[in-house]
Amino acid sequence: FKVWADVPMGPPDPIFGITEAYKKDGDVKKMNLGAGTYRDDAGKPYVLPSVRQAETELLSQKLDKEYAPITGIPSFRVQATKLAYGDVYESIKDRLVSAQSISGTGALCIAANFLASFYPSKTIYVSDPTWGNHKNVFSRAGLTVKSYKYYDPATRGLDIKGMLSDLTSAPDGSIILLHACAHNPTGVDPTKAQWDDILKTMQKKNHFALLDMAYQGFASGDFARDAYATRLFASSNVPMLLCQSFAKNMGLYGERAGCFSILANDAEEAARIESQTKILIRALYSNPPVNGARIANHILSNPALREQWAGEVVGMSERLKSMRKALRNILEKDLKNKHSWKHITDQIGMFCYTGLNPQQVDVLAKQYHIYLTKNGRISISGLNTSNVRYFAEAINAVTS
Ligand code: PLP
Repeated sequence: FKVWADVPMGPPDPIFGITEAYKKDGDVKKMNLGAGTYRDDAGKPYVLPSVRQAETELLSQKLDKEYAPITGIPSFRVQATKLAYGDVYESIKDRLVSAQSISGTGALCIAANFLASFYPSKTIYVSDPTWGNHKNVFSRAGLTVKSYKYYDPATRGLDIKGMLSDLTSAPDGSIILLHACAHNPTGVDPTKAQWDDILKTMQKKNHFALLDMAYQGFASGDFARDAYATRLFASSNVPMLLCQSFAKNMGLYGERAGCFSILANDAEEAARIESQTKILIRALYSNPPVNGARIANHILSNPALREQWAGEVVGMSERLKSMRKALRNILEKDLKNKHSWKHITDQIGMFCYTGLNPQQVDVLAKQYHIYLTKNGRISISGLNTSNVRYFAEAINAVTS
């Protein structure tokens, strides 16, 4: 039959394509700096000991495999939103609607569908650049995706003037997507003072804030610090929703544990929003998987395990910070590279926007067996004490 004759071949996913090329490369020095998943100093995936411990304890409870409610495991939702909203939680909990989601992407899907159905404006503004999947998720749900200025290639930092000016030019009541911390792909975050200015502009323009927080704790090692913007917005009168992920900060990538939450004006409005959220989720996937949320809930609600986990999160973020320092030091001090590499240590989180151009990225792959995205983004987690010098030498060679 011919019904699919007109289905065009789509482009491969850029990140997964890099991993494929890396896998095919037989060189011992090869490096994968594409994927945004944490690796330990031996370059291996890291299952947090607190997660292993939670799994053991949960296994011994011999829990059943019944369906979770449509919005997920209730205690997980409370624990997740408490972690995000912190000291603001108590004052908003009666008008906060939450739903366990299929990790961060699933939370974004709920958000996109909810906004497309019920929010007056159908245009969402995302940072330029942003995580590649944002555009897919929002346009699939029927929203129009536009962008606001964010990254300044000249400083390899934030273009705060351009950002505020674009937010001001957007029509009143637009939806604005903000990366709560550890901006992907640039690693460039606003300072606290800049967040305050962003909030003021959002208030003046009656914009709606969609906060994507995929890296709480993972960025600085401090859950409160990474949630600064989230808590600032939640304690203001800006309408907002939040998408959380436990992929990075608990290393639960494939378990798909996340949380969607939205602030209503009062409890009555919250009840209406919750009813529609349930109808939407029921149609999308009925109810979420239980395993990852059980693990996250167990860690968050058990004080000793939670403290252990917090320490492990500090460990991951410290390793990434130390790799940033090492890379910059080798380039500037040891190799005396003529460019400034200050941005490597100014930027934060999993990623660094190196400033390398597509030609240089090509040479890194072909001659040095080092794989990264064409935009020059590297995942810091792919660096370790055994390969950071080799990587610095390769950068030095392509930029000298
Ligand atoms: N949002 C951003 C900015 C991300 O970088 C990611 C993951 O890379 C996600 C959301 C969602 O990831 P997940 O669906 O694995 O939680």
